[in-house]
Amino acid sequence: GKYDRQRSALLPILRVIQEEYGYVSELAMQYVADLLGIHAAKVYGVATFYHFINTEPKGKFIIRLSRDISSIMKGANDIARQLETVLGIRFGETTPDGLFTLQWTSCIGMDDQAPAMMINSEVFSNLTPLLIPQIIRQCTEKFYSHRPITGMVGDSFTTTLTYASHHANAGITKAAAMEPDEVIAEISASGLCGRGGAGFPTGTKWKMAADANGDVKYMICNADEGEPGTFKDRITLSWFADLVFEGMTIAAYAIRASQGIVYLRAEYAYLLPHLEQVLKARREAGLLGCDISGKEGFNFDIRIQMGAGSYVCGEETALIESLEGNRGEPRNRPPYPTEAGFLGQPTVVNNVETLATVSVILARGAQWFSGIGTEKSKGFKLFSVSGECARPGLYELPWGSTVSGLLALAGGEGAKAVQIGGYSGRFLPAAEFGRKLAYEDLGAGSSVIIYGPDRDLLEVAENYLEFFVEESCGQCTPCRDGNVVLLNGIRSLRNGKCSGQQLDELLSLAETICVASKCGLGQSSPKVLLSINRYFRNEINAHLTAEHSARST
Ligand code: SF4
Repeated sequence: GKYDRQRSALLPILRVIQEEYGYVSELAMQYVADLLGIHAAKVYGVATFYHFINTEPKGKFIIRLSRDISSIMKGANDIARQLETVLGIRFGETTPDGLFTLQWTSCIGMDDQAPAMMINSEVFSNLTPLLIPQIIRQCTEKFYSHRPITGMVGDSFTTTLTYASHHANAGITKAAAMEPDEVIAEISASGLCGRGGAGFPTGTKWKMAADANGDVKYMICNADEGEPGTFKDRITLSWFADLVFEGMTIAAYAIRASQGIVYLRAEYAYLLPHLEQVLKARREAGLLGCDISGKEGFNFDIRIQMGAGSYVCGEETALIESLEGNRGEPRNRPPYPTEAGFLGQPTVVNNVETLATVSVILARGAQWFSGIGTEKSKGFKLFSVSGECARPGLYELPWGSTVSGLLALAGGEGAKAVQIGGYSGRFLPAAEFGRKLAYEDLGAGSSVIIYGPDRDLLEVAENYLEFFVEESCGQCTPCRDGNVVLLNGIRSLRNGKCSGQQLDELLSLAETICVASKCGLGQSSPKVLLSINRYFRNEINAHLTAEHSARST
């Protein structure tokens, strides 16, 4: 009833069933298929694609322990052993009383407070083995306390967004006094580029959507940050949700969209009540709905749709597929979403940080914004810093700041290597810490993971490949099968069972996967191995069998 039998609502419907019954049975899948007039195989394909949809019974409490590299470095394996001991089961199993299921999961957006885990939709962070019995006991007694993880914890500096949030709605007021084309011109003049990684000019994207023909246009906020090590959306949505919704409304005005959707990652379900509350307040203040800001005909509203646990849905076309009720598999392009996106209509997808920044730019002016940063990277940027450092947290810096400057702020001096932009980003040795955080140098990634001097980098590479194997959508062979071969190869190497010739074959395969994969996941998954080979060949040589290869880079 709630979803009016819309086929595109398949994923929310599956979530509702799961909330009610604990899992989505085959019977339920058939029922939904009949209700929506689609084949049961289609429902099965969607239900089995997402990590947060269970197709078989699980425990009443599903414990998902993050195993990304920042969590591992902070002791996640010790937490795992303690959980297994206390519950008497292994990972992947459910206790005989049906109360607990233990699962590994990838990043849950809490790397500033690692190690962390979720129990259903509750987050528990800064875990120690000593805390585990107490948490389990509280679950068992059904009175574990809600601990909302919404704040800026640790050393988080977000000065510009904080300033803007004190001048709320200055941006939308200014935009409503302009023509839509003038708003696009203002954003173009600011030099703002997408903060999601690709760095596409935001004004250009909006212009493409504004010029496209469509019955209806959509403004989508990508709040599905799944890149290991990143948590900036969590903090931005917790503290600056108004700026994000304001940015969506400004974008909608510019492209003449009437409907907005926030695609919120499943791991952030606990933010939903807060976000709904902010939306309600904006409607009551006339900042959403009809004739926004008193401008006749400026009609726009926003709804939130939950994701269901899939890394690849951070890619905008995969996200649109998911919104339409399909498996979140990337589309071929062209056509681009600005021309034919959600339900085939012109659609702009911008991420959380980009949209918050839009509000700041409208409020303070393109000229002010473009005066910050470098020639090709205008403004400021949020960085989620985690790993082996004294002060993990969220840092806002002008583009063009150096890696070493950021490390000094976070207490990560002396690091051996740094991963910029999450697992799919750049792996940088200490010799290159003078490089700049900017589009023209290290790219747009937010996640910064710091590796201390004693870190085993092949352990890091194995962790990365486990993640990519898990998250590959399976659509293309180089990524689906190639990453499995790479993972097995790295394990052989770590076990001292890899010859130089086998390593050369692995490196050759890694290069092939980079060029032959369809989307960014496969194109970047082998880079960690290639980088370690390039910068830390001595750590590889230490594991090779006697017959070494002459190949060094
Ligand atoms: Fe799917 Fe990987 Fe191919 Fe991307 S590269 S489409 S994630 S199989």
